[in-house]
Amino acid sequence: MGTRIAVELWSGDPAAGQAASDAVLAEMRRVDALMSHYKPESQLSQINQRAASEAVRVDPELVALIQRAQALSGLTGGAFDITYASVGYLYDYREHVRPTDDQVRDGLGAVNWRHVIVDPEASTVRFAREGVRIDLGGIAKGYAVDRAIGILESMGVVHASVTAGGDSRIIGDRFGRPWVVGIRHPDDAGRIVVRIPVVDAALSTSGDYERYFDEDGVRYHHIIDPKTGRSAGEVRSVTIIGPDATTTDGLSTSVFVLGPERGLELVERIGEVDAVIVRRDGKVLYSSGLAAPQAPPQNQPEK
Ligand code: AMP
Ligand code: MG
Repeated sequence: MGTRIAVELWSGDPAAGQAASDAVLAEMRRVDALMSHYKPESQLSQINQRAASEAVRVDPELVALIQRAQALSGLTGGAFDITYASVGYLYDYREHVRPTDDQVRDGLGAVNWRHVIVDPEASTVRFAREGVRIDLGGIAKGYAVDRAIGILESMGVVHASVTAGGDSRIIGDRFGRPWVVGIRHPDDAGRIVVRIPVVDAALSTSGDYERYFDEDGVRYHHIIDPKTGRSAGEVRSVTIIGPDATTTDGLSTSVFVLGPERGLELVERIGEVDAVIVRRDGKVLYSSGLAAPQAPPQNQPEK
């Protein structure tokens, strides 16, 4: 995944603890081998190579995650769209490469989640037209974290935290106190904007400082608005807190694209999730589940 994995867990027995963390890393590698778009032999790459001309048979697990991504596309009005990759591949952040307006215009015709036709019965994926590419980078790390937590639970672990890049999930508490997760300042990795106590929950952050380059005062980064083919620019970071990491990962990318107003509206509508948004001007916005309570009414006569 090209990302940092961290596992913290408690176990009465050092050998069992080591076996549990080994199992987490093995599961992360397995998911990566299945879904990586960097690896030409992965099943995801097989889809990208062949699905425009035939229905490509893949593991039901991959089909299910693509269906989950499609559901999120429907929920977000297409802000989350794994076919963003049909233009996304034209960017190379390390080499400071970005597409021309003509290239974006040509690529955008292939960007539409409805171009991905999934047949769960046959366990196949097919593209409705040429030029479509998919990439699960906006949701697969959260999925891998959820898989890892499932393995830890099956091994009897009851206090643990698993993180892959910006996606974390926590089971239990930390010695009777909540785990505390800091949200970093977009321009200073050493500075914390806000600390959030977390017990039995997942938390994902999407930021414009993860993969990017700056040119003429514009930040070109890895979260792409499928409507424009350009980096979404209204916010600097979005953190979502929710029940599982697949949900929070997908939603943090989605809300980043939607921007603060439509993003918060979606979060309130879903209900079981909360959000912290760092807007482009630096202002920090919270969903209603996190917002500081209003000062209680002071039954005092006005002077
Ligand atoms: P995250 O850090 O979870 O927000 O994921 C960012 C990654 O999501 C990018 O590196 C892309 O792989 C992918 N991505 C970018 N834009 C979109 C989009 N509009 N919909 C779905 N995935 C996206
Ligand atoms: Mg995400």
